[in-house]
Formats: sequence, structure tokens, C-alpha cells
Amino acid sequence: MSDQKTVEETTTSEPAARGTVVVEVRDIGKRYGNIIALSDVSTQVKAGEVTCVLGDNGAGKSTFIKILAGAHQHSDGELLVDGEACTFSSPREALDAGIATVYQDLAVVPLMPVWRNFFLGSEIRTGVGPFKRLDIDAMKKITKDELAAMGIDLRDVEQPIGTLSGGERQCVAIARAVYFGARVLILDEPTAALGVKQSGVVLKYIAKARERGLGVVFITHNPHHAFPVGDRFMLLRRGKSIGDYPKSELTLEDLTSMMAGGAELESLAHELQSIMGEDSDVAAEMVAEAEST
Ligand code: ADP
Repeated sequence: MSDQKTVEETTTSEPAARGTVVVEVRDIGKRYGNIIALSDVSTQVKAGEVTCVLGDNGAGKSTFIKILAGAHQHSDGELLVDGEACTFSSPREALDAGIATVYQDLAVVPLMPVWRNFFLGSEIRTGVGPFKRLDIDAMKKITKDELAAMGIDLRDVEQPIGTLSGGERQCVAIARAVYFGARVLILDEPTAALGVKQSGVVLKYIAKARERGLGVVFITHNPHHAFPVGDRFMLLRRGKSIGDYPKSELTLEDLTSMMAGGAELESLAHELQSIMGEDSDVAAEMVAEAEST
């Protein structure tokens, strides 16, 4: 009997050439009944670039992600993928177009090994008909190789994913999306709940995904995280875009003060400090900056 391997649910899209616009939104908007969650937002996601979406709580970041990820449909404007206007009616459709989303609360099964989580829902099977079984060796090897290709050095892919740190789990999720053919990777505040060191690790893998030619959409509160890895910055405030700039047009200081400013910046800095801890360098720096604004 010939061994027949199948990988279920893989995406089929080809990677786009670096610099090509893969996803574009033009004056996009979303209304929930009378509530306008997002209006007139425009930006581009290019292959091999990181588009950062910055904004405070309630700015519309989640709404923006949900539209790109196919979880919600836009009410106004246009969403273009490879230059063609489209509306995703489900996350599956977005995934089929090569748009993968890694949410902050990663859907992992903590007690299952890393390799099992890597292939969850897309297992490789071997054999045919009633003799079909999981190809465990192949899945372990691919997981190990893919993590290594992203520069993630795990001692053992057999260890339960719940034993990894939050940053490492994010990195496994990024490697998984890359392996399953994502062209665009949306990262929903991947560093928000992490300390400085762990955030640095995740930022490194964001840069790695960009190097591999993916278009990355990096959602964050934190200009200090966005600036080093971002190529383009789109700022949201109360559902509206307050700017969409390539990196050449702004400095970290511009980004920080534009993002919030004055009292809003200060409360954001304190919020960040409470998340990251009193001795977080990033948070302390932001508080100092907010107080000097
Ligand atoms: P962020 O992710 O930046 O915190 P959101 O996209 O969650 O912002 O929210 C933007 C605005 O839209 C908020 O005022 C929020 O209350 C509103 N909103 C978000 N989702 C819904 C919904 N399902 N129904 C009604 N209002 C919503």
C-alpha cells in the first residue's frame, strides 16, 4: 500500500514579491447599529513590511483586525486583496486568501505537546482509508525544523505548550502561521501582556517574519515596540485614523506624542506600567515622557 500524506487546511496562496501591496483598506468603516467603531481608515500592507496599527483602548484596533481577519464585515469603504475588492464572510475565507491572525489569547491546548498544537486542526496523516493514522514523526520533525527556521530554539517539541513562556507561545503561533502559508500575518497586541525581555523576543520574530517576505500587521499600544520593527504606522483614535505614515516620515518622538499626547498619554503610560510592572524600563520611559509632554 502506498503511503499517502495529506496536510489538511493548508492555504494555497503564493508569497507576493517584497514591496507588493497585498492588502489595502480605503476609507474603511464599521458601524454596530448606531455606534461608529471605525470610520474612514486607509492603509496598506506590503509583502516584506510591517504595518503597525497603534491606538489606545477603544481606538478601533480590534474592529480593524476583525475586518481583515474575516470575523466582521466592513460597513463602508473598500477592502482590497491583491488589488481586488472583497469582503470576507468568515475567518476561513481570510485564511484562504493567506491572511492569518494570531490573537493575544492564543487558542492553544496547554497540556498538549508543542508539535500537537502546531498542527492542531491541520494534522498530517499517513496511509489510506481505514489505515489512515497521524504521522507523528513527520509532524514532530516539521515543527522542530520550522521553529529552528524562525530561530526558535526549543529543547523539546514534546513538552506541553503550557510550559512555554507567553513570548515563546506567541513565537510558535507565528511560526505556525508562516508554515501554513500565510502571506499576511496579523498580530493582535502580541507584546501587551509581556515584560520587556519577552517583548524583545516577540519583536525579533516579527522582524523574522518580515524577512521571510510576509506582510505583518502589528497591533500595539506601544510606540516603543512599534518603532524599531515598523515600516509604516497607522494611528487610530476613537475609531478614526489620525495618520498613516511610512517610517521615513516620522521619529519615535513624533509617534509617541501623536499617539496620545498630554493627559491621555500619561494615563496610557501608567496603564502600561501596571501591566508591565513598576520596574519596566519601557513603561518608566513612557511615564517620564508623558510627564514631560
Ligand atoms: P480597541 O481594540 O482599539 O480597544 P475596539 O475596536 O474594540 O477598540 O472598539 C472600538 C469602538 O467600537 C469602542 O467604542 C467599542 O465600544 C465599539 N465596539 C466594538 N465592538 C462592538 C460591538 N460588537 N458592538 C458595539 N460596539 C462595539
